Amino acid sequence: MGEVLVVVEHAGGTVRKVSLEMLTLAREWGTPSAVVLGGPGAAEPLRDKLGEYGAHKIHAAEHPDLDGFLVAPKATVLAELIRAREPAAVLLPSTQEGKEIAARLAVKLDNGLLTDVVSVNPDGTAEQVAFAGSTIVRSRVTRGLPLLTVRPNSTTPVPAPASADLSPVEVVLTDADRLATITQRVAEAKGARPELTEASVVVSGGRGVGSADDFALVEELADLMDAAVGASRAAVDSGFYAHQFQVGQTGKTVSPQLYIALGISGAIQHRAGMQTSKTIVAVNKDTEAPIFELTDYGIVGDLHTVIPQAIEEVRRRRQ
Ligand SMILES: Cc1cc2nc3c(=O)[nH]c(=O)nc-3n(C[C@H](O)[C@H](O)[C@H](O)COP(=O)(O)OP(=O)(O)OC[C@H]3O[C@@H](n4cnc5c(N)ncnc54)[C@H](O)[C@@H]3O)c2cc1C
Repeated sequence: MGEVLVVVEHAGGTVRKVSLEMLTLAREWGTPSAVVLGGPGAAEPLRDKLGEYGAHKIHAAEHPDLDGFLVAPKATVLAELIRAREPAAVLLPSTQEGKEIAARLAVKLDNGLLTDVVSVNPDGTAEQVAFAGSTIVRSRVTRGLPLLTVRPNSTTPVPAPASADLSPVEVVLTDADRLATITQRVAEAKGARPELTEASVVVSGGRGVGSADDFALVEELADLMDAAVGASRAAVDSGFYAHQFQVGQTGKTVSPQLYIALGISGAIQHRAGMQTSKTIVAVNKDTEAPIFELTDYGIVGDLHTVIPQAIEEVRRRRQ
């Protein structure tokens, strides 16, 4: 089987979940190799995790300029690596950076590109979801090798231990790669809650929560369950909760083990961001709310009555 290159998304010395998802998908098409792009010493801290999820090899491209400039150096290094290795396929994360690198690669290599892929098939096709989840598109790259970006939270990472041998990559850059310098990095303010797109439990509130103050109830339940907090667009537009927590077509895509929707009607654009959650629970006072078409457990009732009871019960069981 050919080598499938997986371009690793990492931050602060840890592997982001989407990289493990890509390593899992890559096995469908060949032998996964991870590619780590970063400053000196970037690859070693990631090695155990990447090996646990099936990376036979880690191509480590480490150079201060990979960290000090925007995407251009990464695209240049990757293009060279692809020319040298001639892999069976290349997977990148469907993040802002991943998509920009992929687009640059497509131009450099005169290659086709599929973005926002959610799964790959043994016949060489890849799947994308269109129209807020109502249509599955199957396609294949017909020019060059399969070059894909993979949407986070589309598949469940499955461990498959492999050797993760480190292989240094020579980094050769030109002045054209050094045109956009990173002058400052500001860490997003984060609380103690898990990252929304990586949490195994998400508690989301909608317009039905009623006000920004009432979101404290959503947060209280979330904290008791070590969950992340999400919000519908109507809740965000109403000023109840910050935009960075919006779940849906124009927000984040989540796929937790448990998704709890409080006062959310279940519009198709909201579903697009959470419908692959393993277990879905909803509280809504309207029996006809479309969210109930999706739920494993539905509670018809006023959330201001239901959530305090749920909080009390979770607290009692946790004692
Ligand atoms: C291009 C486009 C992109 C969009 N992107 C997104 C997106 O990314 N994410 C997203 O969420 N939406 C998105 N939307 C908006 C989407 O269409 C809906 O308007 C939105 O999801 C509705 O949010 P909601 O369910 O919180 O509000 P509503 O539709 O107003 O529903 C509120 C629900 O709360 C229930 N309720 C009210 N009070 C209570 C109570 N006390 N107890 C229990 N239940 C109660 C009501 O019965 C109702 O079902 C998008 C729309 C467009 C056109």
